[in-house]
Amino acid sequence: MRRCARPALARVRLMADECLFCRIAGGEIPADVVATSDEALAFRDITPVAPTHVLVIPRAHWANLAEVAAAAPQTLVDMVRLAAEVADIEGVATDGYRLVANTGAAAHQTVFHAHLHVLAGRSMTWPPG
Ligand code: AMP
Ligand code: ZN
Repeated sequence: MRRCARPALARVRLMADECLFCRIAGGEIPADVVATSDEALAFRDITPVAPTHVLVIPRAHWANLAEVAAAAPQTLVDMVRLAAEVADIEGVATDGYRLVANTGAAAHQTVFHAHLHVLAGRSMTWPPG
């Protein structure tokens, strides 16, 4: 069996140093925080594409939502619960909101720390662009 040359703690340190959303989760880069939970953090997107545009991220680093589901399913549940709480706080739960998880470059993922977009406050079209 091949062993990872880098100890787990060093890997976490590397992520915290280099990953934008790890740095936001660590409080190193400021964000407009809307809600928090034990496992996740919700903050406003810096370039909103809807009146409500909030990102929900896990506090720990995974590259995408599928990795969260595989490694820590309870964290994924926590993220979806927090997204629902954001919708309540924003007053959009009844009218409806869209959860988006761009996964991979072809799907327009630009930050490779797992996140959900919570989008609401305008009517949405389908299919998405
Ligand atoms: P994605 O393209 O799905 O990976 O989403 C990444 C999102 O992160 C984009 O909508 C960006 O506008 C947003 N973003 C990038 N930097 C920041 C930041 N410092 N604070 C808040 N949102 C950010
Ligand atoms: Zn990260």
